[in-house]
Amino acid sequence: MRAMVLDAPGTPLRVAQLPEPEPGRGRLAVRVLACGVCRTDLHVFDGELPEPKLPLVLGHQIVGEVVAAGEGAGPFAPGERVGIPWLGWTDGECRYCRSGRENLCEHALFTGYTLDGGYAEFAVADERYCFALSAAPSPVALAPLLCAGLIGYRALRMCGDAERLALYGFGGSAHIICQVAAHQGRRVFAVTRRGDAEKQAFARGLGAKWAGAPDELPEPLDAAIVFAPAGELVTAALRALAPGGVVVCAGIHMSDIPSFPYDDLWRERQIRSVANLTRLDGEEFLPLAAEVPVRTEVTAYPLERAGDALDDLRAGRLSGSAVLTVAE
Ligand SMILES: [Zn+2]
Ligand SMILES: [Zn+2]
Repeated sequence: MRAMVLDAPGTPLRVAQLPEPEPGRGRLAVRVLACGVCRTDLHVFDGELPEPKLPLVLGHQIVGEVVAAGEGAGPFAPGERVGIPWLGWTDGECRYCRSGRENLCEHALFTGYTLDGGYAEFAVADERYCFALSAAPSPVALAPLLCAGLIGYRALRMCGDAERLALYGFGGSAHIICQVAAHQGRRVFAVTRRGDAEKQAFARGLGAKWAGAPDELPEPLDAAIVFAPAGELVTAALRALAPGGVVVCAGIHMSDIPSFPYDDLWRERQIRSVANLTRLDGEEFLPLAAEVPVRTEVTAYPLERAGDALDDLRAGRLSGSAVLTVAE
């Protein structure tokens, strides 16, 4: 099969011919139809996350079709459409797994990081971590829901019932979560770079009540989600909060957060991060996305142009999400 392989962080992805993976016990072999490109892929590619599997096939927003199920591989049958997310395996027995927090599992394995992912024609996955997907929207439109949507949704959940919600960094995740939050009756404030009229118009078109630069926010916020990997946005968002508000950091990697006066945190403001996902997040979010219904804005690239997709993501040239189209 064709695959894009990362031999070492910082080196270009290589087009390779790999053997088609065998499903093995409890696992599914999946023909990849589309695979979303996530900022986390860029962090792995740049060597900002420790100890990736190497060589590695990146990609953890996989929409595929089951081609074979290994012995004991549960309910999925050949031909069914499945989604393979970031969380690829957990031990089921550590203190986190036993308390409904498998996202924090001490021995978790992650698709496209410590397990091979979806920048390839085929992938294998433990069926217990795969989601059933409807056949309706196209694979390309669905792919960004599997991480940008899912982990964005987990971040949204950490905002409680916040009515005034700011999204810092209006990219792949925010463009989905904006639609969900507006659907829930929240007022969304999209925070972009100063003068980025195109992104601001994009955000308003997806239900944001307001869009502008950080220092132009018209009123205090009940919650802010920081999607951009820039630590200075965390303190900016904290300063924009009303008492009792929360800043949720949704990324896996971020530059250092500058120091700030305690007064900015006083009055029960909080800063927290969101890590990974649980299967329950997916079971809640995927039907909700269909109900909204979330419309993803996607730039599609053929598999061999995965490197260009990563470059465009890095440069901020995308509106919405990048997705590799692998088979249709
Ligand atoms: Zn565990
Ligand atoms: Zn991701």
